[in-house]
Amino acid sequence: MRTWIKDPLAIFADSAERGLVVEGTRIAERVGRGATPERIDATFDASRHVVLPGLVNTHHHFYQTLTRAHPSAINKPLFAWLTALYPIWSRLKPNQLRLAARLALTELMLSGCTTAADHHYLYPEGLENAVDIEVEEARALGMRMTVSRGSMNLSEKDGGLPPDSVVQDEETILADSERVLKLFHDPKPGAKIRVALAPCSPFSISKDLMTESARLAERYDCQLHTHLCETEDEERFCLKMCGLRPVDLLEETGWMSSRVWLAHGIHFNPHEIARLGNAGVGVSHCAASNMVLASGICPTCELEAAGSPVGLGVDGSASNDSSNMMEAVRHALMIGRLRYGADKVTHRDVLRWATEGSARCLGRSDIGRIEAGYEADLALFKLDEPRFSGAHDPLAALVLCGAHRADRVMVAGEWRVVDGAPVGVDLDALVAQHQAAARDFA
Ligand code: ZN
Repeated sequence: MRTWIKDPLAIFADSAERGLVVEGTRIAERVGRGATPERIDATFDASRHVVLPGLVNTHHHFYQTLTRAHPSAINKPLFAWLTALYPIWSRLKPNQLRLAARLALTELMLSGCTTAADHHYLYPEGLENAVDIEVEEARALGMRMTVSRGSMNLSEKDGGLPPDSVVQDEETILADSERVLKLFHDPKPGAKIRVALAPCSPFSISKDLMTESARLAERYDCQLHTHLCETEDEERFCLKMCGLRPVDLLEETGWMSSRVWLAHGIHFNPHEIARLGNAGVGVSHCAASNMVLASGICPTCELEAAGSPVGLGVDGSASNDSSNMMEAVRHALMIGRLRYGADKVTHRDVLRWATEGSARCLGRSDIGRIEAGYEADLALFKLDEPRFSGAHDPLAALVLCGAHRADRVMVAGEWRVVDGAPVGVDLDALVAQHQAAARDFA
């Protein structure tokens, strides 16, 4: 079956003025100006659509959708925000995580996202199968996903930030990491599910857990993820606890590698940026969360110039508090311009970060571009809302006028959003169930 996505209004790809052909789960060819593809079985008229590679979200905490705009946490910086929320989050139950994952994945997909990475590091008693739940939900929705087996093993009694109720010991963490890698991790091109190992942050994990997680990642050929250099509090904590700056901690534990992508990556010095770039360590830029918690601004341009992949993340829904990837694109443009100037960060730069850059963070070269041989993951937007009326450059309009909902989304050659609605999901019922689940966290 070869489907021609024909004559788009605009497309974020070179030599594809007349669109592209999808065959099976992949992109078979781009169709340039004046060209017509051969052997076409079906045609999709894209003349009212702006076509993007599916957006790739590199950082999230799905469970936090249950504690958006929480009165205990709003208007606080990271450490105060976290210590207010840990005890509330410790009540999380499997059925609540399931609804949170379903809601977050659906919300992401409606914003044009086709691949999501979730960082789940919260393991109160009874929630041992968190990864299994997220995999089941991604499969049911047809989304591509990197599920991070997160972890915390340094609680208050050992000088860490989280309470005892949400951490596990190292042995349990490593055994379960291996279990979920064996069960779900697919390193092959075109994979729908991959597993990453993700010790949470320098203030909630031991050095030994970092080192052992890196060893396991080598053995199973998977990515590694953690929060790093998000705030100055974290830097002080790291220096006090182990006498190292956060980037030196990465180096000492075997994390200076292209297997690694970091959430936030704000407080680096120029020498550290050069070292990270040399090693190919990726950074997930979470602009909204960084603005809400006033953490700082990620040095995206310096990191990219040094050689680091730069991707975008919405971050958890207690610090954003939205899971909209197109909003994340717009935020990255705005904050990037404030830092670097109006001509230094363009709409094409931020769209590239949200697609190819994010894919590289996740260690993937089979998604994030509209090119023959890549997976057929696409996001199609119409410009028929009042906010776009009068717009001239359709691609720039998506970012500058604030596109927020895709009309069509394709994952691996299958439509998962049609006419702005998720296929096979009763959205009203899902929101009602999720809303009811969130009441337990008041
Ligand atoms: Zn985070």
